[in-house]
Amino acid sequence: KKVKEPKPDWIRIKLTTGDNYQEIKSMMRSKTLHTVCEEARCPNIYECWANRTATFMILGDICTRACRFCAVNTGLPTELDLQEPERVAEAAEQMNLRHCVVTSVARDDLKDGGASIFAGTVKAIRNRLPLCSVEVLIPDFLGDRESLQIVMDAKPDILNHNIETVERLSDKVRAKAKYRRSLELLQRAKEMQPSIPTKSSIMLGVGEEWDEILQAMDDLRAVGCDIMTIGQYLQPSEKHLYVQKYYPPEDFAKLKEEGLKRGFSHVESGPMVRSSYHAHEQVKSAARQ
Ligand code: SF4
Ligand code: SF4
Repeated sequence: KKVKEPKPDWIRIKLTTGDNYQEIKSMMRSKTLHTVCEEARCPNIYECWANRTATFMILGDICTRACRFCAVNTGLPTELDLQEPERVAEAAEQMNLRHCVVTSVARDDLKDGGASIFAGTVKAIRNRLPLCSVEVLIPDFLGDRESLQIVMDAKPDILNHNIETVERLSDKVRAKAKYRRSLELLQRAKEMQPSIPTKSSIMLGVGEEWDEILQAMDDLRAVGCDIMTIGQYLQPSEKHLYVQKYYPPEDFAKLKEEGLKRGFSHVESGPMVRSSYHAHEQVKSAARQ
């Protein structure tokens, strides 16, 4: 189904640019680092950067996969920069970040999928900014247990891996990833390091039914997932999946209640919510558990 509805009123970008935002932006330019905040044209960038939260994309900006909702370029990656962990940590230190999210494209071309660079980045940030919480948002490493173990051994503050959508639509929306494999990754992460909160996210508006969303919540809770984020899918370009539906804010509020009822320690749910939105607050609520 092709739906070309105009964006509703509640999808709006708040154009408030504080000092922190400008400061961080010019530093990013000078260090040639990739942030998801910029590359995914995230609507929360002003708020997040002002709150000293940022999401770095490591391992280059070319992905070996081509998910139908994602704006990242697909191709054969060339970058593997062993100094990257240190450069990211240095930038995080200069920004004086309170919460740092580290994510990557899927590097199916690398033996460990990039896990050791993830681990190195967590450690490098820890060294320079002991008070900054570090969240990793990882790809599925094609289900490889050892790669996950490398990341868990670095003890991130939050282990995040997105299921992205409900089970029925997973194969259509995501490339190569598998719904069950993602759940298994979250379960294994809990088994490896039970005290590290796990987190996952879905986007709404790609054709899912209400009951399927609730089922995805149950599936996440069944593997011990602690934190969930739910946001509205927005089409990055004409070539990407069409938006099937814009959910009103009330629906997001209802889903938040449903999630909390199911025992998530934190549910961030709203039209503009992205995986790392208000992430520093999630660390706090997970720690209170
Ligand atoms: Fe960056 Fe995530 Fe905030 Fe968006 S929600 S601006 S990607 S930290
Ligand atoms: Fe985008 Fe991740 Fe899919 Fe690559 S694996 S296309 S970065 S969502």
